[in-house]
Amino acid sequence: MNETVIKKMQEILGEAWVVTDLEKVKSYCDDQTEKAMKPEICTDCVVVKPSKTEEISKIMKYANENKLTVIARGGGTSLSGAAIAIMPGIIISMERMNNIIEVDETSMTVECEAGVTLLQLVELFNKHDTLYFPIHPGDEGAQVGGLVVMNAGGVRAVRYGVMRDQIKEMEMVLASGEVVRLGKNLIKNNAGLDLKNLIVGSEGILGIVTKATLSIKPKDKHIGSLIVSFENESDAVKAVTEIFKTGIKPMAIEYMEKKAILKAAKDIGMTWPSSEGAVDLYFIVSERKEDDLYEMYEIIVGICEENNALNSFVAESSKDQRTLLDIRSHVYPSMHDEVVDAIDAAIPMKNLSKYMDSITKISEKYNVHISTIGHIGDGNLHNSILTEGAVKPDNYDEIADEIFALVMECGGSITGEHGIGKIRNKKMNLQFSETELRLMKEIKKIFDPNNILNPGTAL
Ligand SMILES: Cc1cc2nc3c(=O)[nH]c(=O)nc-3n(C[C@H](O)[C@H](O)[C@H](O)COP(=O)(O)OP(=O)(O)OC[C@H]3O[C@@H](n4cnc5c(N)ncnc54)[C@H](O)[C@@H]3O)c2cc1C
Repeated sequence: MNETVIKKMQEILGEAWVVTDLEKVKSYCDDQTEKAMKPEICTDCVVVKPSKTEEISKIMKYANENKLTVIARGGGTSLSGAAIAIMPGIIISMERMNNIIEVDETSMTVECEAGVTLLQLVELFNKHDTLYFPIHPGDEGAQVGGLVVMNAGGVRAVRYGVMRDQIKEMEMVLASGEVVRLGKNLIKNNAGLDLKNLIVGSEGILGIVTKATLSIKPKDKHIGSLIVSFENESDAVKAVTEIFKTGIKPMAIEYMEKKAILKAAKDIGMTWPSSEGAVDLYFIVSERKEDDLYEMYEIIVGICEENNALNSFVAESSKDQRTLLDIRSHVYPSMHDEVVDAIDAAIPMKNLSKYMDSITKISEKYNVHISTIGHIGDGNLHNSILTEGAVKPDNYDEIADEIFALVMECGGSITGEHGIGKIRNKKMNLQFSETELRLMKEIKKIFDPNNILNPGTAL
């Protein structure tokens, strides 16, 4: 990286907060995307660690004037290559901007700097009697800024929606260095175009988020988990759609291939409660009153039995529930060495059965294992193409093309939560018309006329 740039960064931040050591820089250039899917990583970067918005503003002003690439860096947990550096540039690590500014129990919000991690929020609200932050994607190293711009989802979206549904206000630094505050902490607000919601899901290409005010929710007193096993996937899908028709809203409904969940349990020396059947549904339910919780179990189990469930298991003690959660959380790590690509399409409920049947047919046609795990409660299943050693098969493109064509045929989205990043750009034209793509590109130009913010991402 150019010496003049390094000197300027040192002038803005002080030497201690400018990282040039190659080994250290490398760890900021990569993310958690599958190896077989990653673009080529460029390590000719300087990592800077600002502690306040004004410093980011000065960095952006300088970068913009000199047309230098900038990538905002959160926890580096992106699964779509969004945080990967592919050209020389400045990586702004948000890790020092990690203050929780205020928990406002009247407005039911928490205001944070963008570098606050999900783990910090979990730990903060574990100590709180009545409130918590409801969004929980799988890696607690993710930061608020990353969660905002990736519009993260996770298992609890069934009841609480996604990040977009939690964000009240945010502070952001534009490519020009100007600082703006978007949104208001109101239920009704019809003034002007909704710039705040344009930033949510923008994957770091429109500006650097520095603060966000997020909604928090009351904790239910009674929480339970329920595992129900099925011999075939279509019965499981049918049961989920029937459950929704009753108006019930569990906190989470996860779908798991039996093989995968049993392997995950074995790998961490734990026992999964059911070995029968080919697939399991994992419900997490919570209610304010104990009786309501039992009523919910009864309704769910009743519907599952009507749809040929083989057995069901309720976990009520926190120890048993923790075991289930630990095993569920380990499913992905336990298959990780074999995952070529984890496709996270979102599919409308009415077409979920058709989608899953067709995935099985694609798997048979190409003789490749496609494992299905994920957030069935919101139609966001994760189909992982697996091979030994996660080696991309020669016909990978054909398999992926067929899956994405199926997603479109089912009226779905090519990504439900992981984002486009740098790995799905070529698929954008499947989902969007030329006019829509042009509008997106023009919006990017307005926010970032010199295309310095994370080029090659999202569009
Ligand atoms: C094991 C595992 C499980 C996961 N499970 C889920 C899940 O269930 N649901 C889900 O939605 N995601 C999931 N993810 C993906 C990931 O955690 C989310 O996308 C998360 O929102 C990324 O946040 P981050 O702070 O790590 O961002 P990073 O990976 O650091 O960056 C991602 C993008 O955000 C931009 N960015 C980061 N911070 C800022 C900022 N302050 N301002 C502007 N741009 C910024 C970056 O430039 C980049 O484009 C999972 C990841 C892993 C590894």
